[in-house]
Amino acid sequence: MGTTEKEPRKHMEAVSIKNVTIHDSFWAEREQIVAKTVVPYQWDALNDAIPGAEPSHTIENFRIAAGDSEGEYYGMVFQDSDLAKWLETVGFVLAKHKDPQLEKIADDVIDLLGRAQQQDGYLNTYYTVKKPDERWTNLRDNHELYCAGHFMEAAVAYYEATGKRKVLDIMCKYADYIATIFGDEPGQIRGYDGHPEVELALVKLYEATDNKNYLELSKFFVDERGQQPHFFDHEAKEREEAGLGKQKEGRIYDYFQAHVPVREQFTAEGHSVRAVYLYSAMVDLAVEYNDVKLLDVCKKLWNDVVQKKMYIIGGIGSSAHEERFTVPFDLPNDRAYTETCAAIGLMFWAQRMLQVEKHRDYADVMELALYNGILSGMSLDGKSYFYVNPLEVWPDTANFRNDMKTVKVTRQPWFGCACCPPNIARLIASLGQYLYSQDKVEREVYVHLYIGSKLEIDMDGQTIQLTQTTNYPWDEQISLRLQLEQPTEFSLALRIPSWCKSATISVNGEVLNTRIHVNGYLKIRRVWQSEDSIELHLEMPIELVRSHPRVRENAGKAALQRGPVVFCLEEVDNGANLQDIVLPLGAKFDVHFDKELLGGVSIITGTGTRTEEKAEEHHSLYITQAFSRVPATIKAIPYFAWSNRTPGEMTVWIRHSEV
Ligand code: ZN
Repeated sequence: MGTTEKEPRKHMEAVSIKNVTIHDSFWAEREQIVAKTVVPYQWDALNDAIPGAEPSHTIENFRIAAGDSEGEYYGMVFQDSDLAKWLETVGFVLAKHKDPQLEKIADDVIDLLGRAQQQDGYLNTYYTVKKPDERWTNLRDNHELYCAGHFMEAAVAYYEATGKRKVLDIMCKYADYIATIFGDEPGQIRGYDGHPEVELALVKLYEATDNKNYLELSKFFVDERGQQPHFFDHEAKEREEAGLGKQKEGRIYDYFQAHVPVREQFTAEGHSVRAVYLYSAMVDLAVEYNDVKLLDVCKKLWNDVVQKKMYIIGGIGSSAHEERFTVPFDLPNDRAYTETCAAIGLMFWAQRMLQVEKHRDYADVMELALYNGILSGMSLDGKSYFYVNPLEVWPDTANFRNDMKTVKVTRQPWFGCACCPPNIARLIASLGQYLYSQDKVEREVYVHLYIGSKLEIDMDGQTIQLTQTTNYPWDEQISLRLQLEQPTEFSLALRIPSWCKSATISVNGEVLNTRIHVNGYLKIRRVWQSEDSIELHLEMPIELVRSHPRVRENAGKAALQRGPVVFCLEEVDNGANLQDIVLPLGAKFDVHFDKELLGGVSIITGTGTRTEEKAEEHHSLYITQAFSRVPATIKAIPYFAWSNRTPGEMTVWIRHSEV
């Protein structure tokens, strides 16, 4: 099918992790932690071999389903997906590093999946073990297709890493079976899962196998969502349920993004992880089917999220109740939900938007989520995790109040419902695929993220290597060096992040004008020679960032940011009562790198004020005179590194006198 400019298409392709090797100190170390610590740790967790952690029972559920073991199913209905995410992570790890021992464990678990798979292709331990006669009777709540989707993603990652087809065949068999169950033919179910996921996974399965049935099935699920008569009503009636599930006045099924058909959804509603997984699939389908209207919806949703519903850390979903989006500008800090998975899903969505529209806005959000709301989800040693990422913590209330019961003051070793830990592991293990894109038609190579790495791509049959050296996000300097077999003309497009007000660039020592950029990408087109070098300097001043005035929680407050990294104050550095600290107008700050602290981070210091101590001794709760204030040194650390020392208070937003 021919394309015109109006029709959505991928203008570039993200370069696969196989062609990108990360070697900087910041991310390579985290990749190592995932490969060497997190993957074995999570394997132990899936096998209930971690003392003190909530039981997972995931592997045991598969053993029971396979007939290898006897017992009862235990865990959430979507417990299977933890294994799927682990296996997908293993695929990404093996794509970069050979590890025969790990591959053997994975192959054995794939054999177990094969044994747990039913004759007809069905593979879900909850229903197989617990309710074998009730498959597909509660798509709204029970995550059957969601789990299938995660295994499809795992199958593709593992197949691409190892070339072994077994798990891909298992999941194709399952997908083929699903395609017989769902559809608009007589006797088929015209339904879709309450938790989007299978939609984006089917697109990946299509890309890996070239079987268009999978793409069609994904489109079917997306198109059916929210249609009337409503599938969830029909399904609830079939179950003879009195109520029709999650409904509220004026908001029926928006929790599932099923309140109206997707092409009529212009604001982000409902459960935030579900939303961004769905939106990711919608971008994929808009591209595959040249669907202008669907892409337009994606853009409207994008603007709604980033302009009205996203925290400064790139987290989304501000309400713990239903883990959902609420109304524009409702971004509470101490009750923030901001599930790690939602920030990860935002990155999935941003990456897809970026390939369709070469605009830095998407890469900026990808970077913001990555360095803040995603990375905060994992401790520095990779052994404990946040599910919820608040921007302000007062442990006394967080540990007491019912409306803060989801907020944890310290990262937890594992969760009974462990969606986030394996999700962050797979994201870090696959980070290489977010760094670069290639537009083969226009002969352009895009650099989205500044991470020390080596890129290898093919251009007209020759291998082009690009080596990126940087101490980002702490350092302002990025060096790029090309290695070519012969002089070649193409454009190198470098992102000038929106937070950077002053960038300088030179090629082989010759300074270029950085003001001429296209949608935030500085394009350098020339006949490149081997050993050509580019020096990019992105000025990273310490910025005081304010919120839109309609964000009530942040009125009169500012946050410290440097480059893509958002900072916070912790009690261990600043004493208790962080709400008392005020940054005066014109406050000066310094930044320095402390290699001993938190695995090596930049810290920001400055002088604020706080209430004089003797005023605190005042015994009245309310008084009429102002308290006197005294200077106080403040020390801010990167938000992602909070809660790795003595537990205590934390805040991102700090009071600030504007006048
Ligand atoms: Zn999660």
